[in-house]
Amino acid sequence: MEFWDEKMETMSRDEMTAFQGERLRETVKYTYDNTDFYRQKLNDAGIAPGDIRSLEEITRLPFMTKSDLRDNYPYGLCAIPREDVIRVHASSGTTGKPTPVFYSKRDLENWGHCMARTFYTAGVRKTDVCQIALGYSLFTGAFGHHMGAERIGAMVIPTSSGHTERQVMVIRDFKTTVLHCTPTYAITIAEKMMEMGVHRSEVSLRLGIHGAEPMTEELRKEVEEKLGSVAIRDFGLTEMGGPGVAIECLEKDGYHVNEDFYFPEIIDPETLTPLPEGETGELVFTTLQKEGVPIIRYRTRDITHLNRTPCVCGRTLIRMGEIKGRTDDMMIIGGVNFFPSQLESVLLDFEEVAPHYLIRLSKKGRLDKVSVDVETTPSYWANRQDEDIKSLSERVQNRIKDIIGFTIDIRFVEPMTIARSEGKAKRVLDER
Ligand code: AMP
Ligand code: ZN
Repeated sequence: MEFWDEKMETMSRDEMTAFQGERLRETVKYTYDNTDFYRQKLNDAGIAPGDIRSLEEITRLPFMTKSDLRDNYPYGLCAIPREDVIRVHASSGTTGKPTPVFYSKRDLENWGHCMARTFYTAGVRKTDVCQIALGYSLFTGAFGHHMGAERIGAMVIPTSSGHTERQVMVIRDFKTTVLHCTPTYAITIAEKMMEMGVHRSEVSLRLGIHGAEPMTEELRKEVEEKLGSVAIRDFGLTEMGGPGVAIECLEKDGYHVNEDFYFPEIIDPETLTPLPEGETGELVFTTLQKEGVPIIRYRTRDITHLNRTPCVCGRTLIRMGEIKGRTDDMMIIGGVNFFPSQLESVLLDFEEVAPHYLIRLSKKGRLDKVSVDVETTPSYWANRQDEDIKSLSERVQNRIKDIIGFTIDIRFVEPMTIARSEGKAKRVLDER
């Protein structure tokens, strides 16, 4: 067995808890001393920084949400002087201002360390050629992955996202072994390979590291089959500083969280009480070693569960389950809750269906209506008869009704008509 950071990755639970408790104590005091926001927040909650003495006491601390970040835009949560900030990244801010994160020198070092650790966990080695097909921009993804691969000593090709034909050329000519991109962009690249007549046997890809959006098991299978490589999920969010928060090991049985840097909790999103281990709820993170923008109990909106049993790979780092969805993209239709990823699982279970779909929400009278546009595979489309489509629609519709619990209108559309993604895919169109 090989580890990047054996001590932390295989630490006993007691030692890890003690380490986290110590770091939490420091973080609370640090934020209190260095930001008006936290000082105010703790004062309002009637907590003095010295009151938090152990990890369990984290539950006394107030939560933070996206709106706290927005309200303090741009510098309000920055705990270090401007001249000590050496990098800034930000989230997309689709609904207004972006959320910036400021990094000190040590933050960048720690981030690079977490990235290298996650990559090593996924099997990236010095001999690899890593193509980073994520946008080099204000976003965290590309720069984080870049640092991780570089630290391991792999060869890094910063292609950024887009220019898909060039991505394929680089994969083939430079003999890329590891591809980093979103899962949906991996599919877009695979399709371009086919279009250009580049067969997967002509390329050297062996590993794909895919994050920033959900990848259901069904989509993972498609990516692996199309690219001829193993697909591993990784996870991160801008508020924690970007990717490098968690990654699957080759067992593909949950994401190992870098819990010495990012402490996870699961809460009930309604009552805000912590849930017992193993139960599914909203993921909350606290940074334990951040200088620039330390974050206490941030409600991610992501829904998952945690598992502290040690993994077959030898790591004791806590494992996080698959992200089931986000509280803010959960749809409630006719009283039934569901997430786009559940629909994706059902759709991709049909071999006639391609991994391209768009969920449309509309109003029919006062009721919400869901329909979905789905592409079939090109070969199915080319050979179809009208009756085939009708029967496929019925079969898909029945399966959705069985599994999710209500009827969705299915419209099969011509291959290549649904917009392809170069980053995070847009899966839902709200026309209400
Ligand atoms: P951003 O801050 O723009 O990087 O977005 C972070 C969000 O992307 C997370 O809170 C998740 O909702 C989503 N995300 C990132 N990685 C994954 C993943 N592996 N699976 C599912 N969702 C993910
Ligand atoms: Zn493992």
